[in-house]
Amino acid sequence: MIIKSEQSIKFVRSSYGPRLLALGLGFVAIASALISLQAPWWVWLAPALHGFVWPHFAWRRTRNAADPAAAERCNLLVDHFAGGMWIAAIAFNTLPVVLILVVAGINSMAVGGLRPFLRGMMVQAAGVGAGLLVYGVQWQPVSSMREVLACLPLLVLYPLAMAYVTRSMMLKFRQQQRELAYQSQHDSLSGLYNRRHWDACVQAEFLRCQRTGEPAALVMIDFDHFKQINDMLGHLVGDEVIRRFAHRLRTCLRRTDTPGRYGGEEFCILLPHTTRHDAETLMHRLRKNLQEQPLIKQRAVTVSIGIAALTTDLSTHEAWVRLADQMLYRAKYQGRDCVVAAGVDYPVPEQAASTWQWGQQPDIRAEGHVLAGLESGDVGVALFDPSDQLIWANSVFLDLFLVAPEPRTFADIMHNCYQQQRGPRIECDDIAVWLAAADAKRRSKPNRSFIIDIHDGRYFQVEENSFENGWLLGLFIPYTP
Ligand code: GH3
Ligand code: MG
Ligand code: MG
Repeated sequence: MIIKSEQSIKFVRSSYGPRLLALGLGFVAIASALISLQAPWWVWLAPALHGFVWPHFAWRRTRNAADPAAAERCNLLVDHFAGGMWIAAIAFNTLPVVLILVVAGINSMAVGGLRPFLRGMMVQAAGVGAGLLVYGVQWQPVSSMREVLACLPLLVLYPLAMAYVTRSMMLKFRQQQRELAYQSQHDSLSGLYNRRHWDACVQAEFLRCQRTGEPAALVMIDFDHFKQINDMLGHLVGDEVIRRFAHRLRTCLRRTDTPGRYGGEEFCILLPHTTRHDAETLMHRLRKNLQEQPLIKQRAVTVSIGIAALTTDLSTHEAWVRLADQMLYRAKYQGRDCVVAAGVDYPVPEQAASTWQWGQQPDIRAEGHVLAGLESGDVGVALFDPSDQLIWANSVFLDLFLVAPEPRTFADIMHNCYQQQRGPRIECDDIAVWLAAADAKRRSKPNRSFIIDIHDGRYFQVEENSFENGWLLGLFIPYTP
């Protein structure tokens, strides 16, 4: 009830300005006709009070009313009645009369619609009758040039004011719609997608992968012994753990991954273009990250993780989610703080002809042209791990691609470049779609070579090489225009 009143007050407040304008300038139009009629002073009194005192009184009355919208409807009836009286007072002078009818009509139509409009018109007719009784019957319908000029300010400014109010209300409405849409998709504690929206994302990805045959994986994560955290440290600390974990997920995952809060202290992640093997690597790294940088100081917080890679025997996306959930329970059963995965892995892509092993310093000397390029300062090189985290990059690559905020993954780097129009030119409507396509190409063709152009006008030949435990991006300048 209180919320309804506040909304009504906001709505009614938006009509305060236009009413001030309409009644103030309306008086100018009426005054011009009264001058022509050489009306006595007492005829001026009521229109002047209505024009300059009544709007403030009406606003105060509305603001203090239990039902502001009803009070505003009543104010409009007063305006209609008073307008009717002024029509008789100005002897039916055509232009001011039309203005009075139109402005009062627009007001009641905008506030209440057709019924209040018709009711207002009837009240206005009653006002005309009362005006004839008070001011006597006079008939001077022809408007002089002075009366036309006196009507012009209201004629011009009132539609503009109404258009402005309508537009501001529409913008507020759109903003509220956006906020509602955000709230309906996100969980308020963690800021991640809620279960309903995440489920919809999984369904869409499931159907897409069925069409394309691309790999994808689902992850379910549950905190171990979370009740103990609540019991020993309090629910507020429990909530903080949930918030920090959500933040950690966002920073550890690629932009194309979709984390969500499945409910309680259970989280879920959709990993597109990800094989079971890659998902396991990613989740082991997440567990390691939680060990190395604990979420809270008071005690270690561990998680159990279930992974389900998409397979052809999964007929619905619900079955896919169920499988990930089963793997999570298996992880609990196996003693917690571990990762259990289901689903066949995709064939490991053809290996690049390289002697470089993960964990060693990259043997860049093996590639003669890379070395030559590095020495001349023309070649940019970056190394990524299987989950696309940036491991190492030389200064040429950093100068070309690195745009603040500090990126962690390949997707972050490309996203920043796209946003700030620096580094490589990326022509697309949706960077997420572009990244997904780049990801799919890299996975299907581990050794690729193509040309990209840079915003500064240079062109680079790009060599992408995938290894068992990561991939290398090399940039060589083929020519400078
Ligand atoms: P297990 O290792 O078997 O998962 O043990 P557990 O104690 O974590 O058990 P379970 O997953 O069933 O516990 C869920 C608990 O998480 C129960 C509830 O008190 C707590 N919880 C759920 N949602 C919230 C929340 O939003 N905030 C806080 N502080 N606690 C929550
Ligand atoms: Mg738990
Ligand atoms: Mg739980």
